[in-house]
Amino acid sequence: MTAGNLSEIVKIIRAARRVVLVTHTFPDGDALGSQLGLGHILQDMGKEVILYGEEPISYLYEFLPCCARMVKEPPRLEVVDCAISLDCGDRFRLGKGEEQLLKIKPFIAIDHHAGHQDFGDLRWVVEGRASTGDMVYDLSQLLGAEVSYEAAYCLYTAIVSDTGSFKYASTTADTFRIAGALLAKGVKPAEVSGKLFDNFTESRLQLLQVVLSTLEIYGDGRLAIISATKKMFDLTGADKADTETFINYPRSLAKVRVAALIKEIDGAIGVSMRSKGDDCDVAVVARKFNGGGHRNAAGCKFRDGETLHEVRDLIFAELLPLVHDK
Ligand code: 5GP
Ligand code: MN
Repeated sequence: MTAGNLSEIVKIIRAARRVVLVTHTFPDGDALGSQLGLGHILQDMGKEVILYGEEPISYLYEFLPCCARMVKEPPRLEVVDCAISLDCGDRFRLGKGEEQLLKIKPFIAIDHHAGHQDFGDLRWVVEGRASTGDMVYDLSQLLGAEVSYEAAYCLYTAIVSDTGSFKYASTTADTFRIAGALLAKGVKPAEVSGKLFDNFTESRLQLLQVVLSTLEIYGDGRLAIISATKKMFDLTGADKADTETFINYPRSLAKVRVAALIKEIDGAIGVSMRSKGDDCDVAVVARKFNGGGHRNAAGCKFRDGETLHEVRDLIFAELLPLVHDK
């Protein structure tokens, strides 16, 4: 992506009166934080902003300002001047509205996923950036836009989510510089962290309890796998979003290089993978199964009736050689 394209994107956004903002399905903190953060910024510039999200927002993110304004239907083409997708690495992750949304011209993609699959008319994709949220902050500066407390709150949430609280390898001096600028707008880091991380329900903790009992460790401690079955969700009454961050537990083992969480959700089997350092690229494994992501965080879904155990075996066969001798 060249700077030329970025200045073109800035020009288009400046000129647009009505903009639709979209992100990927099953949105996480960076997806929603960057979508809502840019929403606030553009609205404060006097634009009409439509926030599109077909799924109900997980209760985990209800604290984000403006979450409730999300609409479930893509706007008609003639109603908007441009569409911007945030944090979406693949057009299929736009969800059911994909085709309708991509008809909107120009369609701009802003993203940081390794292996981003190009879609839309204009793209600003920087693989390796810590989050889409901090890219949105840079965009706001190029737009000469005001970043309100609400916008800063959303963008800071995005950054904290995608950097694992500034722990992951993608965290740079720039990430801290931008986070610092957001805190200067009045955002309280303890408040955001509290909302993101200290908000378990009892059923979520009970789900964690049973999921952790599935822990399997291989490769001399370098590979750890946990699983969440439909039965466990039914038993505990936990929500499908409740497994978010569970992957951090097997990842937290000192010797682990690669961790995986396999979960049975909505009749499909989802796989979340994490790795540490540069040696093990889990995005390669995710792409083998039509998924995607980054070197250190990737995922894929199996929708053809595979059982959780079959998926576990397929993933295990790919991950064990990956950690071998690492
Ligand atoms: P998570 O494990 O948190 O669900 O996902 C980690 C990363 O993997 C996400 O940022 C996303 O880039 C990628 N990812 C997860 N699931 C999928 C998937 O089904 N398809 C694609 N293309 N990427 C995915
Ligand atoms: Mn992201």
